[in-house]
Amino acid sequence: MASSNTVLMRLVASAYSIAQKAGMIVRRVIAEGDLGIVEKTCATDLQTKADRLAQMSICSSLARKFPKLTIIGEEDLPSEEVDQELIEDSQWEEILKQPCPSQYSAIKEEDLVVWVDPLDGTKEYTEGLLDNVTVLIGIAYEGKAIAGVINQPYYNYENNEKQQLREHRNEAKAGPDAVLGRTIWGVLGLGAFGFQLKEVPAGKHIITTTRSHSNKLVTDCVAAMNPDAVLRVGGAGNKIIQLIEGKASAYVFASPGCKKWDTCAPEVILHAVGGKLTDIHGNVLQYHKDVKHMNSAGVLATLRNYDYYASRVPESIKNALVP
Ligand code: AMP
Ligand code: MG
Ligand code: MG
Repeated sequence: MASSNTVLMRLVASAYSIAQKAGMIVRRVIAEGDLGIVEKTCATDLQTKADRLAQMSICSSLARKFPKLTIIGEEDLPSEEVDQELIEDSQWEEILKQPCPSQYSAIKEEDLVVWVDPLDGTKEYTEGLLDNVTVLIGIAYEGKAIAGVINQPYYNYENNEKQQLREHRNEAKAGPDAVLGRTIWGVLGLGAFGFQLKEVPAGKHIITTTRSHSNKLVTDCVAAMNPDAVLRVGGAGNKIIQLIEGKASAYVFASPGCKKWDTCAPEVILHAVGGKLTDIHGNVLQYHKDVKHMNSAGVLATLRNYDYYASRVPESIKNALVP
């Protein structure tokens, strides 16, 4: 392992602070009350003021510090001068103290591609399912996702539905002292940090999948897994968090719709703790700057027992999803 003042570790340390700032922006837009919702391709493909401001903040902050990076953000925004108030300049010191895996120590800024989803789970954000939301900054080298940061702005937030359920069951809530929001980060060869790794009880097959973008292929594929339970929640980042925290054993999405910025950072976090994310055929995802954005052949991800789930994807579903 090389010293941490490598381009990669400086970039991850910046991305951590920048993702935190984006998380604050996501909370601020809700607090101010005007979401500024715009339909992109359809009623389930939305953009809000938070998506726009967070992307401006992330992309401008990264570009100022690392001008030779290739940065690809989800939102199409007019190129305009970004308010200084949106710029984050700091770097998370704890990350700078970490060693850089030696295979990445000679990477140059111009060799890196950064995939930015400023707000993953926008549909859920507009519906008040705030703990589904994440900010995703993924870093790729030679087409491979190698480092990533996930900020969850509403970690510890109790949405109304959950709160009512807890009150009904007389269970404890997160409590008034719980800090809102958290940041998870990881680098291949170093590990993933900012959460407690937990596995689903052995033998339990709990599938997590989309709640806003379902179709027959998605439901047929989930059914073919013969699950003990199905969790339908928003966000690709959120579903990977479910895998690493023992809430779900597989993320199954047999449909196009999810893009490279949705999978890059979450894939790194999962791979850094020994999990696996591929398309529904088992192909590794590519993150070159010229790659097509759509993950046309869906997503299959697990922390453990990948082969069990991969072997249960029906041939008819594979044939319907061309990579
Ligand atoms: P979901 O699991 O539905 O939250 O989807 C994960 C990510 O993929 C989110 O960023 C969604 O916006 C995106 N996504 C999935 N399916 C679609 C779709 N049909 N149209 C637009 N975005 C989608
Ligand atoms: Mg997304
Ligand atoms: Mg998004």
